[in-house]
Amino acid sequence: MNLLYKSTRSADTRVTASQAILKGLAGDGGLFVPERIPVLDVSLETLKDMSYQETAYEVMKLFLTDFTEQELKSCIQKAYDVKFDTEEIAPIKEADGVHYLELFHGATIAFKDMALSILPHLLTVSAKKNHAEHEIVILTATSGDTGKAALAGFADVPGTRIIVFYPKDGVSPIQEKQMVTQKGANTFVVGIRGNFDDAQNGVKKMFNDRELAAQMDAAGFQFSSANSINIGRLVPQVVYYVYACAKLLKSGALAAGQELNVTVPTGNFGNILAAYYAKNMGVPIGKLICASNDNKVLFDFFETGVYDRNRPFILTSSPSMDILISSNLERLIYRIAGEDASRNRALMEALAGTGTYEISGEMKAQLADFAGGYATEQEVAEEIRRMYEKTGYVLDTHTAVASCVCRKYRETSRDGRCMLVASTASPFKFTRSVMNAIDPKYDAMTDFELADELSRIAGVKVPKAIEEIRTAPVLHDTVVEKDGMQDVVKKILGI
Ligand SMILES: *Cc1c(COP(=O)(O)O)cnc(C)c1O
Repeated sequence: MNLLYKSTRSADTRVTASQAILKGLAGDGGLFVPERIPVLDVSLETLKDMSYQETAYEVMKLFLTDFTEQELKSCIQKAYDVKFDTEEIAPIKEADGVHYLELFHGATIAFKDMALSILPHLLTVSAKKNHAEHEIVILTATSGDTGKAALAGFADVPGTRIIVFYPKDGVSPIQEKQMVTQKGANTFVVGIRGNFDDAQNGVKKMFNDRELAAQMDAAGFQFSSANSINIGRLVPQVVYYVYACAKLLKSGALAAGQELNVTVPTGNFGNILAAYYAKNMGVPIGKLICASNDNKVLFDFFETGVYDRNRPFILTSSPSMDILISSNLERLIYRIAGEDASRNRALMEALAGTGTYEISGEMKAQLADFAGGYATEQEVAEEIRRMYEKTGYVLDTHTAVASCVCRKYRETSRDGRCMLVASTASPFKFTRSVMNAIDPKYDAMTDFELADELSRIAGVKVPKAIEEIRTAPVLHDTVVEKDGMQDVVKKILGI
């Protein structure tokens, strides 16, 4: 049966999966959601013995019903290959009674690779299907992680070009080196003199510029987005929760008929929403525990039913979770509003206007499967050190937020169900914060010395992603003023 997608902000839009992927955002400002969440049609007993790629097909075929079997399998084969440093793709490690689902074995050693390695292929198939003849130009503003993962995903994918803007003085040295050494004739990286908001605003302006769109059209180009609100990023993320549950059953860590709790370090609410979709597909997930850092807008929301972004933006050691507007939460709000688009729109308009909204008691009652928690900067550092000293396992700062919240939840709830923590980045990506947490004496070392020392104390090889940038030549050195972004795009495209 064909599954269509509708918008969270109007009742009349219906598009196919490939159209939703191609468009990214619904024209009314809403997000695309499936008309219903499909139920798995294979048992966990069967899934237990499947590879990651086979599991991906079983899950994604239910969401992307206008893709043929051959199209989908080809996308999956191209995405989950030797770019990952383990055949398991997403291995599970046990430490101190908790199961860590390692989502950082892809090209850029953060969990964004799980979706961004397949999105380019889904997008090019979607373009073909809808007879979109133009070359796709991906425009991305990044504060560090998304840019590199998108560059790696789109590099040398035929029919696409990717242009990434980053704040010249606003990313870590490792993050910058990762981006400016990116290979691929279709990749372009531009530093701007400004902050992340300037980069994001500049990109948004170009998306909404009609004159530019007309020039692009005449020259055979169209813009698209690799942002986390694209349904083509959400669906691939559902896969690893199905996979993890099946593998825990296989290893005996989870007994048949029992439920699994999941703790997710959360920023834009994409990863935890994927876990919620997996639960709704029939995966035996119990609690969904949403872990925040000091920017605990989501923790407050789950406690009180009030979402309030009017608060200081705090820079933490888990920068990918420093966010006050969690875009994907809108998909959950829409669902607990009884899929009533006008009710959801009113709440989102209140958020855009006053920066706050409150859900009804009836809506809040539907959030019983969720629990919120947060970890302060000090707790994060202590969690990294405690885990290292007790087990030898080294967590990155984002995973440490979730690990700490998971432990606090267990202590206060006495909920003894099997616990899975989504491990979203390799500790080698945030080496300085991680090593300083273990021992402040490390602060004197350079970034690459720190990577070697981490490798030594953790007994883990330095990942290829770090080895490569040690000696890689800088291939991108363009820097522009913040109001020069459009000119540089035109120059790149030759229009
Ligand atoms: C993006 C990111 C997150 C947050 O994920 P969301 O899907 O935005 O909630 C957490 N950890 C790391 C390392 C990330 O890169």
